[in-house]
Amino acid sequence: MRLAGAIDIGGTATKIGIVAEDGSIVRRESVPTSLHGEPMAVVDAIVASLRPMLDAANVEKQSVSGVGVSVAGFLDREHSAMIHNANLPALHGFPLRRALEERLSLGCRLEVDSNAAVAAEYRYGAGRGSTRLLGVTVGTGLGGGVIIDGALLRYTGECAGDLGHIIVDHKGRLCTCGARGCLEAMVNSAALSERAGGRSVREIVGSARKGDELAVTALAETGWWLGLGLASLSPVFSPDRIVVGGGIAAAGELLLEPARASYRTHAHPEFREKTQIVGSSFEGWEGIVGAASLFLDPLA
Ligand SMILES: [Zn+2]
Repeated sequence: MRLAGAIDIGGTATKIGIVAEDGSIVRRESVPTSLHGEPMAVVDAIVASLRPMLDAANVEKQSVSGVGVSVAGFLDREHSAMIHNANLPALHGFPLRRALEERLSLGCRLEVDSNAAVAAEYRYGAGRGSTRLLGVTVGTGLGGGVIIDGALLRYTGECAGDLGHIIVDHKGRLCTCGARGCLEAMVNSAALSERAGGRSVREIVGSARKGDELAVTALAETGWWLGLGLASLSPVFSPDRIVVGGGIAAAGELLLEPARASYRTHAHPEFREKTQIVGSSFEGWEGIVGAASLFLDPLA
């Protein structure tokens, strides 16, 4: 079976793994992203984790086609460097593809994280069969990618733009971008945590499953804003399906049901009827599956 190495560099954690051609994750590890240090520190941490995985595949005579890299932020036209992300200053303008290729002695391909995530759902997950797929990932930030008739939408920063910064409440929380009430600021981990007395996302989801009222309400409120945001995005992309992934999606129906109810309240009647809202198939690992797909089953 063909394999690809995969790296998903996020604002908080970097996930690293080996993925098989059926989209299954063969090996995986998560390490903290070093946010403000030298870019080579980020590269060193990745190589230290991925090298043993590649060696193990080698020993078992499995062929690794290359290493796909999902990066939080916009990319340059050549897909050689990340050029815009307020949450990840260390990698700004750094020739990441070349640095990784030199250290790993394998071909590397870079993709915007929101594109990688939606590609994973489209190829192997909850997005299969969709003709107009919108994928959103909610965690430290909110990213979105769009696949129309099997092709990724690329019109700014090699992706569909910063969907998380549509403004849904002019009096809402201050966003990292400097604006107020962006969808991202209303639904990200920090917003959810604030609504639940400062607990972590993991704690909130765990408590909500046990019936903790404050945690359930915090997730419902977050879902309500998410549904409103998705309703606002729908006339632009006209999705037949929306897949919700990222750290917060671990809440499953506790987040999705309030999001669907809010969507049905706010969306144009056309979308209320036709657009399904579903959870990711990958429990937060969609980034590495999508990154590997750059070698295993690339999109147009
Ligand atoms: Zn913003």
